[in-house]
Amino acid sequence: MRPAIIVIDIIKDFTTGVLGSERARSIIPRVKRLLDEARRRGVPIIHVTDAHIEDDREFQLWPRHAVDGTEGAEIVEELKQPGDYHLKKRRYSAFYATGLDALLRELGVDTVILTGLVTNICVQHTAADAFFRGYRVVVVEDCVEALSDEAHREALRYMREIYGAEVVSSQKLLNRLGGEP
Ligand code: ZN
Repeated sequence: MRPAIIVIDIIKDFTTGVLGSERARSIIPRVKRLLDEARRRGVPIIHVTDAHIEDDREFQLWPRHAVDGTEGAEIVEELKQPGDYHLKKRRYSAFYATGLDALLRELGVDTVILTGLVTNICVQHTAADAFFRGYRVVVVEDCVEALSDEAHREALRYMREIYGAEVVSSQKLLNRLGGEP
């Protein structure tokens, strides 16, 4: 297994900004712990984050957020690290028009480990696109979050049943990566 960790939309606007919430902020320490261990183990880390154009079509559905070049579109300070990859997206899926698939293939990755926001939207669409492209999908259940418990749990169930995703805790994954319990 050759994994990469995909960090979806853990940016200022989704944590402390216009679409921020305590639920979203709560995953940051666990994601940080996972990324720190992944870096030690040489597992590639790829942030894929919203970078909208002005008047993006998505703003008909959501408040204006994560406009490319604004502070709200920046990765949260806790998770920023030189050496990690960073791709920008304009749609829910981290694969859509981002070059992620080509990058994963260059890195020899066959398994994507999904973290970030939010479970039933960008994470779930990314899981679908990963599945369609033949990647194994792992979702770290306490490193993704949604706007409600119900939406979160339903999305995990869907990804498990429909894409064959493995849903694991960050602790279990850390043990597997060789980290301390
Ligand atoms: Zn967006």
